[in-house]
Amino acid sequence: MVAKPEGIELVVPPTISEARALAFLHKHRDWAERKLSEMRSTTAQSGPAQRLENGSTVPFQGREVPLVIREHTGRRTHIQYDGHFLVSVPAGTENQPHLARNALFNWTKLWIRDQAGFIIQRHAVRFGLYPRQIRVKRMSSRWGSCGPRNDINLNWLLAFAPPAVLEYVVVHELCHIRHRNHSADFWALVARHLPAYSGERQWLRQNGAALLRRFE
Ligand SMILES: [Zn+2]
Repeated sequence: MVAKPEGIELVVPPTISEARALAFLHKHRDWAERKLSEMRSTTAQSGPAQRLENGSTVPFQGREVPLVIREHTGRRTHIQYDGHFLVSVPAGTENQPHLARNALFNWTKLWIRDQAGFIIQRHAVRFGLYPRQIRVKRMSSRWGSCGPRNDINLNWLLAFAPPAVLEYVVVHELCHIRHRNHSADFWALVARHLPAYSGERQWLRQNGAALLRRFE
C-alpha cells in the first residue's frame, strides 16, 4: 500500500480477492489517512517560495498575471496595475524581489480595503453587521480574524485568491460580529449571506497552505 499526495494506491496480487483487499484497506484506514494528510501538508510546505522577479507572475484574483520590474531614475519604488503589475525601482538597487514584494504588499493592502468595503456594503446591511474597521496585514496562518471590538483583520494574500474567496472570508468575519464561535448558528448565518460558501471553504482547504507560502 503506497500513499501518494493524490491518494492511496493499493496494489493487490491477483490471488487476493477484492473483498480481502478492501478489508485490508479498511483495517489500515487510520494509517492511510494520517499518511495522506502528512504528505499533503509537506507537499504544500515544500514548494519553493517565489521570488518576485521581472517576468514572474502573481495570481492576482486567482489568475496569474505578469509582474514587470523596471529600473527608473527616481529614488522611490512605485507600483501600478493595468492588467499586469509594473514595479519601478531605483536604478542600481539590489534585492529587487524584496522591493517588489513590499510594493505589492502596499498596493494590495489598499486594494483589499476597497474590495472589502464593497463586500461590506452588500452584506452588512442585511443583518446589521458593521465592523469598526478593516485592517489588512501579513498573517502567516490565518485568512482573517474579528476582534472583540469588531475590528476585522484580513490576510493580504487574499488578493491572490479568487474574488469569491475574498468575499467568503469577509462575510465569515462579519458573521463573527454576531456569533463569536463556529456554532451551527454561525454557519447558518454565513449561509444566509452566501448559500454556496462551501465551495470557497473547499478552495481554501485545497489551496490555502500553498498560498500562505507562495511568496518569499
Ligand atoms: Zn471563524
